[in-house]
Amino acid sequence: MTTGYPIDLHTHSLRSDGALTEVELVRRAAARAVKIQALSDHDTLVGVAAAVAEGERLGVRVIPATELNTESEWGDVHILSYFVDPHDEALEERLRWLRENRGRRIELMVEKLNALGYAVSLDRVRDIAQGGSLGRPHLAQALFEAGHVPTYDSAFATLISKDSPAYVSRVGLAPLEAVALVREHGGVPALAHPGTTVGLEQILPELTKAGLAGIECYYPSHSPTWTAYCLRLAKQWGLTPTGGSDFHGRGEHGADLGAVFVPPETIAALEAKRGSAYHSTRVEGEL
Ligand code: AMP
Ligand code: FE
Ligand code: FE
Ligand code: ZN
Repeated sequence: MTTGYPIDLHTHSLRSDGALTEVELVRRAAARAVKIQALSDHDTLVGVAAAVAEGERLGVRVIPATELNTESEWGDVHILSYFVDPHDEALEERLRWLRENRGRRIELMVEKLNALGYAVSLDRVRDIAQGGSLGRPHLAQALFEAGHVPTYDSAFATLISKDSPAYVSRVGLAPLEAVALVREHGGVPALAHPGTTVGLEQILPELTKAGLAGIECYYPSHSPTWTAYCLRLAKQWGLTPTGGSDFHGRGEHGADLGAVFVPPETIAALEAKRGSAYHSTRVEGEL
């Protein structure tokens, strides 16, 4: 197996929408010479303990994380939350609420699909998720298996992406709420794949005020120009540039583990921002 860069701060297992178990994921990271990996499943920390244990065995430091998707007029604002504690009961309660909302949303989408003539069963979708955070990727997989779409990705394109016939919007956190939640629980929030945020320069000051600590400048689909732009924004707002592959192991979304370069100083910079007392001291708009 070809090797990747040593740091990957954005990865998914089948505890949310990835294809590999958390243990298989860490094994793949080790095989690709990744030394520091954040497990960042959507709305759950359930895979962290087993991933950390496997990482200790194989020499991979696994950083506990979760990716919180949000719902607002700002497009797809996803907040990566580093160094959160899987034993934090109050945080788990909030994550459970998010997962319940995910479940209801997928149930409604299944109903819509069935009404549109695309027979798909909720039980099969749940089986595909194997107890993890239910999401559209599991639904896409079920649609593909049932022969309703030619590929996994085309399920999104034709049926379940925003503005598609079977789409149902998410009920969950607004971007500022997600950042605040992470801070309240001692985590370090970073904005994932900033290219999916609509009005990035308008929302970034607000997110920073709420406690945002990092921005994912290094990401598989970023052009050099876009990475440079994100680095300028990071400097302007005192945010730590982060990066990761967004590996899922299915579909075309993301890239393989260790696929992007992440500067080694990133980890210490994020660690220095731990603790709920942290607030950016930057003057607004200062370059
Ligand atoms: P959900 O959290 O249920 O809304 O699903 C969002 C996830 O679906 C993302 O994290 C991606 O993994 C995947 N996804 C979203 N849009 C697409 C797309 N157009 N093609 C493939 N996967 C997608
Ligand atoms: Fe995902
Ligand atoms: Fe994301
Ligand atoms: Zn992701």
